Amino acid sequence: MLKSSKTIGWKFFFLLAILLVAIVSFMRTPKPCQEPITYRLGKIDERFNLSREEFRTGIKMATAMWGKPFSRDLFREEADGAIEINLLYDYRQEATDSLKKLNYKIDRSKSSYEELKSRLENLKSEFEQKKAGLTNDFNSYNAKVHAINAETESWNRRGGAPQNVHQRLTKEKEELAPLNDNLRLRQEEMKILVDTINSLVVVINEIASNNNLDLVDHKNIGNTLGREFCEGIYEYKNGKRSITIYQYDNEYRLVRVLAHEFGHALGLDHSKSDEAVMYPIIQSDSLTLAADDIAALKNRCKIQ
Ligand SMILES: [Zn+2]
Repeated sequence: MLKSSKTIGWKFFFLLAILLVAIVSFMRTPKPCQEPITYRLGKIDERFNLSREEFRTGIKMATAMWGKPFSRDLFREEADGAIEINLLYDYRQEATDSLKKLNYKIDRSKSSYEELKSRLENLKSEFEQKKAGLTNDFNSYNAKVHAINAETESWNRRGGAPQNVHQRLTKEKEELAPLNDNLRLRQEEMKILVDTINSLVVVINEIASNNNLDLVDHKNIGNTLGREFCEGIYEYKNGKRSITIYQYDNEYRLVRVLAHEFGHALGLDHSKSDEAVMYPIIQSDSLTLAADDIAALKNRCKIQ
């Protein structure tokens, strides 16, 4: 009897555990139309110069966009919320920032795209020119070094150079030092030029992908960046949900990108209407949903 009651007790706890797991996972399953989806703030890279509070405000504005037409909150911040929201600094933001430091004026318009493209062409030809000149000077520098070394060696084999030859060779060697410095300096300048060109390619292609314009080719500069450019992404991986924002130009745009990713979190796909928040390319900085967004969510939630 004792043994059997022990077994029942063990079974009871086992069932209770299963039940608890089921309840918890049921509670964690998002039901966007019935109760708010919870989120939490994740990592915010400090290079964005955006405080946690400012990021939180942006998120609230984005979630309010979805809640407003339905007169209720569709999202709620919680310490252990289901969706982690991160602001991740990557090469795209780095490229934008490095160009801004060089006083490039960058916005998302087509005219900005054209201007940056013509500057890219200029820089590319400047690069080719400088590269040709540098290669030339490197070759003649190397030839000089080689000649001096060869002469020194040949005198060494004969037991050392006479005084006057030794003096001349020493002087020639000394004269090489500033040449070497000059070449190193120009090489550094070339590196900066290549960095600027690469940054330009990144920024131009990002504007291009957001405006359906032609991407510029970046094979020549040995750039290994992919063709995929996006400002943010919503992911559901290994049972974990997250929103990651890669770029931040201004508050409106941040809110708009967040709103788009929250739309995906609500289970919405891309819209064909270019006014819509769920349009794959962000066309405006408007902070209200388009009719198409509202219709999509009503359809998803089976609201008439
Ligand atoms: Zn999307």
